Amino acid sequence: MSLIFTCRQIAGMVSDAEDGRLGVSDRARFWVHLSMCPSCKAWAEQLKLTRTVVGATGEVDVPDAIPDELLAAYRAWTQAGGGADGGA
Ligand SMILES: [Zn+2]
Repeated sequence: MSLIFTCRQIAGMVSDAEDGRLGVSDRARFWVHLSMCPSCKAWAEQLKLTRTVVGATGEVDVPDAIPDELLAAYRAWTQAGGGADGGA
């Protein structure tokens, strides 16, 4: 096992590093490589940006109005006797 990760290894580790799934030793070697390698640093930043954009888009897909509508419907349903324990 080399002390220095190759660029190919780093490329496959960026997600794990972002998610905190690397061990202490791997994380240290990962960041040492990034500090010395502009290509991998750019790759890591690009992936981080992509994940941020994708994550933000995922949040936009769920409108805030839906939970309120569901809550109102649930309240109306329970006030009308829906969901009572067997009704007997
Ligand atoms: Zn590299």
